[in-house]
Amino acid sequence: MSESIPVAVLGATGSVGQRFIQLLDNHPWFRVTALAGSDRSIGQRYSQVCRWVLPESMPHWARDIVVVPVSPDKMDAQIVFSALPSPFARQVEPEFARYGMTVCSNASAFRREPDVPLLLPEVNPDHAALVHTQRRKRDWRGCIVTNPNCTSTGLTVALKALQDTIGLQRAFVVSLQALSGAGYPGVPSLDVIDNVIPYIEGEEEKVEWEPLKMLGTIRGDELALAEVQISAHTNRVAVSDGHLVCVSLELARPASLEEVRRALLNYQAPEASCDLPSTPQPVIALSDQDDRPQPRLDRMAGKGMTTLVGRIRPDPLFHYKFVVLSHNTIRGAAGGSIYNAELLVKQGLV
Ligand code: NAP
Repeated sequence: MSESIPVAVLGATGSVGQRFIQLLDNHPWFRVTALAGSDRSIGQRYSQVCRWVLPESMPHWARDIVVVPVSPDKMDAQIVFSALPSPFARQVEPEFARYGMTVCSNASAFRREPDVPLLLPEVNPDHAALVHTQRRKRDWRGCIVTNPNCTSTGLTVALKALQDTIGLQRAFVVSLQALSGAGYPGVPSLDVIDNVIPYIEGEEEKVEWEPLKMLGTIRGDELALAEVQISAHTNRVAVSDGHLVCVSLELARPASLEEVRRALLNYQAPEASCDLPSTPQPVIALSDQDDRPQPRLDRMAGKGMTTLVGRIRPDPLFHYKFVVLSHNTIRGAAGGSIYNAELLVKQGLV
């Protein structure tokens, strides 16, 4: 790419917003031209209003950027990365799409809309074609593309490898979700230290539905949901980053343990998404030690973009059970949105 593409981050001070800034530092295609936030931050330098909580230093170029309002006429950008709370995203993201910008959103506001792609490029890059339907129906020059909830992300990558090779019937899943998934400052420490919170508002519904959309099939202008049933329990645990999901799975037919292992190990991103700057290398890694994957030890595999699967074994109720780990603010949020944007650029949709 000869010239870099100007991009903006909406909700730049938050848990996901900071990840965007860290991951966009030295991005080969994208150059950050604007950071947007709420009244609390507008008009102030980013380094003054952002309580930076990542181990990597705040990039020097971001420090002096003056935070602007979340409004398309306040920024010069072709792509906007949205890390806004969902109710506010619902209100403002269409304004950016109408204005001609490509919105790559982390918010759940538009994930269920039939003409809005819910994308994991290594799973369903063909769903990006829904952008054409969206533009036609809504008379937008730009578009909105979403990435899934952070718990659905790794789960769906693992399910896709098995759907393509053996087929799926139903899954029973239990999540152990990191604190950064609740934003910053998130869950009060006195609620979560020495504790597990067995409820995350709205999360189980997302984990039970979003994979069906991503594993679904495009038929003309419509998307048919995958015929898989998922039952989810979601829990918040005292881990900083990295969502673990315990999965029990009924396949479409009996298969050997070796066949399941091979399906996961050999899974590759489709041609459309296999050579982008953020393509996970590898897409799926198998952990062979009995007590892995673990969030603290394994979440940065493939620069935080790889899905880890371990403890694959027979299940007395279903066919097999295993554990999936995915970095929630990288693969499950900012890194995922950037990967989506790269796919849209490659497909000429930006
Ligand atoms: P967060 O830490 O609470 O950050 C929210 C950001 O939105 C802040 O930058 C805040 O700016 C801005 N904001 C809030 N209200 C605003 C308003 N009225 N006008 C303008 N800006 C406003 O949240 P987060 O965890 O980063 O999550 C962001 C979005 O990503 C949410 O929709 C979340 O569900 C989704 N998501 C999060 C994760 C994760 O792992 N955390 C994963 C997937 C998806 P100020 O600081 O200036 O107020």
